[in-house]
Amino acid sequence: MSQYRAPLADMQFVMTELARLDEIAALPGFADATPDTVGAILEEAGKFATGVLDPLNRVGDKEGATWRDDGSVKTASGFKDAYLQFCELGWNGLAKNPDFGGQGMPHLVAAAIDEMWNASNLAFGLCPMLTGGAIEAIELNGSDALKQTYLPKMVGGEWTGTMNLTEPQAGSDLAAVRTKAVPQGDGSYKIYGSKIFITYGEHDYTENIIHLVLARTPDAPPGTRGISLFVVPKVLVNADGTLGERNDVRCVSLEHKLGIHASPTAVLAFGDGGGAIGYLVGEENRGLEYMFVMMNLARFGVGMQGVGVADRAYQRAVAYARERVQGKVVGAAKEASAPGIIGHPDVRRMLLTMRANVEAARALGYVTAAALDRAHRHPDAETRKRELAFAELMIPIVKGWSTEMGQQMASLGIQVHGGMGFIEETGAAQYARDARITTIYEGTTGIQANDLIGRKIARDEGTALVAAIAQMREVPRELSADGNADLGAISARLKSGIDSLEFAGQFVAKQFRQDPRAVLTGAVPFLELAGIVCGGVQLARAAAIASKKLKTGEADASFLRAKIATARHFAEHCVTHASALRDTVVSGAAGVLAMADEQF
Ligand SMILES: Cc1cc2nc3c(=O)[nH]c(=O)nc-3n(C[C@H](O)[C@H](O)[C@H](O)COP(=O)(O)OP(=O)(O)OC[C@H]3O[C@@H](n4cnc5c(N)ncnc54)[C@H](O)[C@@H]3O)c2cc1C
Repeated sequence: MSQYRAPLADMQFVMTELARLDEIAALPGFADATPDTVGAILEEAGKFATGVLDPLNRVGDKEGATWRDDGSVKTASGFKDAYLQFCELGWNGLAKNPDFGGQGMPHLVAAAIDEMWNASNLAFGLCPMLTGGAIEAIELNGSDALKQTYLPKMVGGEWTGTMNLTEPQAGSDLAAVRTKAVPQGDGSYKIYGSKIFITYGEHDYTENIIHLVLARTPDAPPGTRGISLFVVPKVLVNADGTLGERNDVRCVSLEHKLGIHASPTAVLAFGDGGGAIGYLVGEENRGLEYMFVMMNLARFGVGMQGVGVADRAYQRAVAYARERVQGKVVGAAKEASAPGIIGHPDVRRMLLTMRANVEAARALGYVTAAALDRAHRHPDAETRKRELAFAELMIPIVKGWSTEMGQQMASLGIQVHGGMGFIEETGAAQYARDARITTIYEGTTGIQANDLIGRKIARDEGTALVAAIAQMREVPRELSADGNADLGAISARLKSGIDSLEFAGQFVAKQFRQDPRAVLTGAVPFLELAGIVCGGVQLARAAAIASKKLKTGEADASFLRAKIATARHFAEHCVTHASALRDTVVSGAAGVLAMADEQF
């Protein structure tokens, strides 16, 4: 039996020591994010995740969401009540703008809280996550009228939001979007088309659903420059804010999926009955540009799904490994109190690999969230620019690496369970099934890797990467100076890892224009290399801080020693892969490019 426990000690350590919550709280508008308030928020969120969301996770997996002939959708037992409680407690508006009823907490705090929703119930967490994306799209680019009509209700959770990008022929390539938007002469548009794979596109949590829809106006230029963004409410809103007539958008079916069964994935038909009424967000033909600004947060959010689900898989694996007894533990001290498989060296290796990856990805995620906060709020323009460049460089890594890591760790969680991991009742298999989508939606890992190389490195000729690497190099230096043997071992591995990233990064920045096919063959290995090294740097920083605190006798010594052991394990078992990945990036294209299409 395993119950989710929010890892409050590690969350607070990372927020305070690595992401510098004190500096974030000093930014304009974040005065409420004091350590005490944030500590209390984390604790309350942890209780909600443990007490309400975690027990529903299996129910949602077994029951799923049900489509009915009238186009309505019934969600799994208990989910609607959980959602209403979630909103009642104010969780939906935690990091939203106070002008629309939010609590204005920093991204850094939201990252930790979102991790809890994702860990305890990924399918549930998707609804507020998508609503958050829709809120951001309206807030950043919508008219005052759109903001006043929709945002207070969406921030409070009374209405939810969706993102309607995908069509059968337009997935990774949104230039192929065909949904039409015809102006009506009164400022509104009529929307016609079909969208697939729309998360929470229909459900029974709320009376209204606000769809954000990508579509083309009749005279729009072809390709990405001709796509506009529209608000299309499920139920039209009267001038006084009350709900009016049903709009012409219907859920025609739900997909049957490998995982996240409780999250309804809808096929939506717009305009079959004469045209769905939509309202333009911002200007015509700038929809994709708006979407990309918003996508930063959405991609970051999916990265935190990887962290959450991996942590939950880890917690379940540890609980099982303590209980399951199998064979004599080689070389264990006679007085060892735990006879479980947790004593076997290979099981310990698996568990520590899970823990180390989770902690590395968590640290990288929170540090990136803090960079986003600084990029938006810091009073100094130069600092804002630098922090934004860092955050933009990190976001495809947070999304791509943390989600790949998440599904690998969920798979390792099954391995720890042996045969019982393959049996659904144990619960371990659900994490692997649920985690599988995270490397696909909001841009596949391949798309993240292309973004990292094309937009984030080659476009500025590696400037942001060079700046990040210069900062990273301080870390092994600091570790070597400490004199602690563990830190010395971490330092050596990390230095070599940073060398590999720098070498591969220079190759990518220089070669991309000359030979893009060869460089993109190594795009995902490059992303993995970047993730391992950037995550390793954060864990190494944590180890250095832990070592200092141990010397001064501050904080919980057991937690600090475990932090150092975890960072060392990551350095010796994961950062060591960096040089192999470097070689693949730099010289691994020949075979792939030699094959003709028909030879596959
Ligand atoms: C459960 C679920 C929920 C979803 N929720 C939403 C939602 O709420 N809203 C929404 O709009 N969409 C949603 N999606 C759609 C999702 O974003 C897309 O599935 C995803 O972007 C991939 O598009 P695709 O499925 O068309 O795959 P394709 O684009 O066909 O990709 C297939 C393969 O080709 C690779 N590939 C494609 N282009 C390139 C390239 N240029 N370079 C390298 N490799 C490439 C991909 O990496 C992938 O491996 C959801 C999907 C699922 C399954």
